This record gives sequence, structure tokens and C-alpha cells, in this order.
Amino acid sequence: MNHKKNKTQDKEDKSRERPLISVEAAEKILAEFPVAVSIESVPLLAAQNRILAQDISAPFAVPEFDKSAMDGYAYNSADQSPAYLVLETIAAGIPPKFTIARSQCAKIMTGAMVPAGADRVVKRECTLEKDGVMQITAEDKNSNIRFRGEDLQTGQQVLAKGTLLQAAQIALLASLGLAEVPIARPPRVGIITTGSELVEPGTQAGPGQIYNSNFYSLAAQVNACGATPLAMGRIADDLEATTALIAACLAECDLLIISGGVSAGDFDFVPTAMKQAGVTLIFQKIAMQPGMPTVFATKGNKIVFGLPGNPVSTFVIFEIFIKPLIMRLMGHNFQPMILKTTLENDYRRSQAVRSVFLPVSVKNSRAAIIAYHGSAHLHALSQANALLRVPAGQLSIPAGSTVDVRYL
Ligand code: AMP
Ligand code: MG
Repeated sequence: MNHKKNKTQDKEDKSRERPLISVEAAEKILAEFPVAVSIESVPLLAAQNRILAQDISAPFAVPEFDKSAMDGYAYNSADQSPAYLVLETIAAGIPPKFTIARSQCAKIMTGAMVPAGADRVVKRECTLEKDGVMQITAEDKNSNIRFRGEDLQTGQQVLAKGTLLQAAQIALLASLGLAEVPIARPPRVGIITTGSELVEPGTQAGPGQIYNSNFYSLAAQVNACGATPLAMGRIADDLEATTALIAACLAECDLLIISGGVSAGDFDFVPTAMKQAGVTLIFQKIAMQPGMPTVFATKGNKIVFGLPGNPVSTFVIFEIFIKPLIMRLMGHNFQPMILKTTLENDYRRSQAVRSVFLPVSVKNSRAAIIAYHGSAHLHALSQANALLRVPAGQLSIPAGSTVDVRYL
């Protein structure tokens, strides 16, 4: 393991010399990065959590035929006869045999086709049937028919390209008889973790060593976006090894996330390694806490992020910047869920150069700031269900204020 400082290391990599950009400027750069969505067709269930790649329209009217919404008797509402001869019993899925004429009706089940001549179903509870003759015993004001085309007309657009497919959308597609769905091919998101101190969960950590949690949080976050996380390896802080791994990963991934090694330390080789691998650094420092030394870089249409290794920084940067970009790579315009809440505690800070993202716990529209010891405090993060952003320039927020929080 080479822990000697690399003499050829570019001085400008050091974080204090990097221009600081605002959260908004970073968001704008990412939002403007050009992306191309490629399409693949997958079976319906494989489409869960994926992004629809083409508009879908109804291949037929829904319902396709007038159908009963109740178990009851189909008859003509203009027919005020005292009793009605029951011509047949119509089960769901079986077409009616007879047309309903005066003083006639058909017993009908929920979901069955309404026979010709009938325009109303009186529900069973409002009738009495004896010896094949039905009498209406109580008023039923509803027609109890779902009419053809009431929900959808043939050719009507039902889902727009870019829609996130979840259970309700999958149910809709199935109801339209579709077995395969055109979806955006999920980007392959490579994850590299750097740090000579890291060992994997399940092994024994030696003195000074820590467990690699960033691979697991990033992979879980990538998965939650419907993209494919690829474990590209955990490496020691070594410039040559990092350069070689980045170069190799670029061939296999659409987007590469590198955790650790981007700050000003003697063994933070990632920005230099990126350059040596032919990657262009777009920005290297965001005015935010946590996550300031975040690097965004590109090589052709490949995207590379270098994230500070502190686990809360890694998590927050992913949520704020990488998730929307991954969703955009699939043609989805991600909008975080913002909730209006009442702040439970006072917030105060002595400097306001950066935006701060604080883990908060939201319950019944009240947000409590979770005691937070800094960007390694995963336990605090694990108690949070939202992030509160304190913008640059703002020193305090009094308890009782209405604040927007970003739901996680
Ligand atoms: P770095 O950004 O490499 O300077 O790392 C900052 C801090 O995050 C150090 O305390 C590292 O030990 C820690 N860290 C780096 N990578 C990981 C990781 N994959 N999992 C957990 N902690 C990490
Ligand atoms: Mg490190």
C-alpha cells in the first residue's frame, strides 16, 4: 500500500484553491448536462420502479361494454311494470342471450354484460324474486351500470413517457392487456470506494480500520432509483491504482460514483486520478454542508462523481444531486416531495457561507432537528425522514417557523 504523497500530484487539486459554487449553480449544471434515453421492452412486472419510455394510449374503450356494477336485475327504466319475468341469469364473462322487452328482466352479476334493451340494474337488495318473477320492493336511484368508454376512450393517452411505473400504473397497463412495457434502459451506475482504512462488513476490523458503509448506502440509493448499481471495487489510497480503476470502469458504466479521496488530505488522489484517466472536472466544490468537496466530471457522455467519504455527505449529495440526474438519464423529471412543517427547535449557526442540509424527523407536520454531530453521524441520519435546507446567508431559524422540508 503506497501511503507516500505523490510528488507529481497537481497542486490545483487541493480543495482550498478550487472555486466554490452554489447549490443552485451545481443543480443547474447537472440539469443541463445532455442525456440520451435508450429504450428496452420488459415484461410488466420487471417494469416496477422503472420509467416509461413511450406514451401509452388505450387500445380499446374502458369499459369495453356496458357492464353491471351490482348484483341485481337488468331492466328498462321506462318500464314501470309491477313485475318482471326473469329471462336468464347473466354471469360475468358470459354474453347475454336475450334482449329485454317490456315486463322482462335478466338476473345479472357484477361485471357482467348488460343485455340489449336494458338501461338500469336494480340491486338485489331492492328486489324480491319468486317463481321466476322479480318485483322491485325499494327505490334504487342509481343506474348501476358502468357504461362503455366511461373511463377511457379508444386511443386516449393513459400514461405519458417519463412516468415512474409503480403498482397502480402496472395495474393499468395489465388492464389494457399489455404484457410488455417500453421502459428507459436503467443506467449502469458503477461505485468505487476508496480508503486504505476500509474493510467490508462481515470481516474483523483491525486497529484504525472502519467498515465500508458508503458502498452499501450508495448501492441502496441507486437501487431505489430503479437504476443498476455495479460494485466496481474498494481500493486503497493509491494514485496509480485509482487511475487504472477509473479508466477501466468508464468502459462499463454510464455513471461512476467514487467515494472518498476528494478532499485536501495527503492521500486524497481522486481528482488527480480522474484527470489522469482523461476525465474533465466540471466543478469541485459546492457551498454546502455536508458535502463541500464534491467533484462532478465527465468524459464524453460518461458522468463521474467524486464524493467526500463521510457517510452523511455521500448520502446527502446522492439525494440532492445524483438521484435527479439518474432519473433524468431515464427521461424522468424527478421532483422531490416538499412538505410544509413547523420547526420544533431553534436553529442557529455562526457562519452562513454555505447551505446546510440537516436531518430532521417529521411527524404530524412538525419537524424536529435531529442532534447531529457532523458528517459521519450515520445514526442521526438513520432517524431522519426528511432534510431541512438552511440556505446560504441564513444564520438562524426560530422554533415555530414554517419550514419546507425535503422528504427522503
Ligand atoms: P475522505 O473523503 O476519503 O477524506 O474520507 C472522509 C471520512 O470518511 C474519513 O473518516 C473516512 O474514513 C470516511 N470514509 C471514507 N470512505 C468511507 C466509506 N466507504 N465508508 C465509511 N466511511 C468512509
Ligand atoms: Mg479517504
